[in-house]
Amino acid sequence: MTATIIDGKIIAAEVRAEAKVEVEKFVSLYNTNPCLAVVLVGENPASQVYVRTKSKMAKEIGMDIEDHIKDKDISEKDLIDLIAQLNNDKKVNGILVQLPLPEHIDSRVIIDAIDPIKDADGFHALNVGRNSIGGDLLKKSFVPCTPLGCYLMLKKNIPNLAGMHAVIIGRSNIVGKPMAQLLLEESCTVTTVHSKTKDIETITRQADILVAAVGRPLMVKADWIKPGAVVIDVGINRVENPSDTSKTMLVGDVDYVNAMSVASAITPVPGGVGPMTIACLLRNTVQAAFRQKISKI
Ligand code: NAP
Repeated sequence: MTATIIDGKIIAAEVRAEAKVEVEKFVSLYNTNPCLAVVLVGENPASQVYVRTKSKMAKEIGMDIEDHIKDKDISEKDLIDLIAQLNNDKKVNGILVQLPLPEHIDSRVIIDAIDPIKDADGFHALNVGRNSIGGDLLKKSFVPCTPLGCYLMLKKNIPNLAGMHAVIIGRSNIVGKPMAQLLLEESCTVTTVHSKTKDIETITRQADILVAAVGRPLMVKADWIKPGAVVIDVGINRVENPSDTSKTMLVGDVDYVNAMSVASAITPVPGGVGPMTIACLLRNTVQAAFRQKISKI
């Protein structure tokens, strides 16, 4: 068996194109562009790259972008004040605080200071709660962008996920936990494994859908995968390039080359989940813009 490659670049382009249509609809109805405010604290090079890419893609679909670049020494209070200012700014529809924040700032306090209806990342406790309850509340919540991207890729491949056994490796608030909730909502049987789980391979081998969100290069070997499973690799790991040790390369959490002969479909790294995350951020922001015209939270 050779797995089908689930091409995140193509699906992300479709999600961005749909978001662009929504942006145009919003502009024609309200005569203003949806606007995303991005808050970046410090000079983490990876964060700077993410923020630049987000800004570029937002502009491409006609969304306005406000960058708020702050010194790494900004106090928690000043950051909360900035969030309050963005919450009250009618022009701003989505607020994204680029993580990680410096250690002296409590990320949870900052995220929960964001107005939930502007929480384009879906990390606010109210949105987390709504996602956990599911059902109709999902229509009012924002789903975190990376698991939402994984979900959209899965649904494109398997429209009816009911009854499938999904195993998720990783239980972070950003990826693993919301991914589990989304798949439970689709009536999958969901197992979440993590660093304390015993005999992970025995569990992953039972997965019809395997989502790896660990941050350990090539950890998931081919013999961890059930033949015919669909594999979503969230991991982004920078490692030494074996063919030129002066260079680095990106690999996922899954041993992609060998997994190709076992899985029925698999996402590559790069070019899989990565592009979906930004596309889903744009999707969430334009949804936020519309919701703000209708209700408060
Ligand atoms: P995280 O917060 O570090 O969480 C990692 C999870 O993996 C934790 O739940 C941890 O378990 C578990 N884990 C660690 N070592 C393990 C092991 N040996 N066996 C089983 N489980 C293990 O990471 P994250 O934010 O969820 O991100 C995960 C990966 O996805 C990273 O590579 C990150 O760069 C990537 N990522 C990609 C995107 C994208 O846009 N494509 C977005 C976000 C993240 P414990 O809870 O027990 O510690």
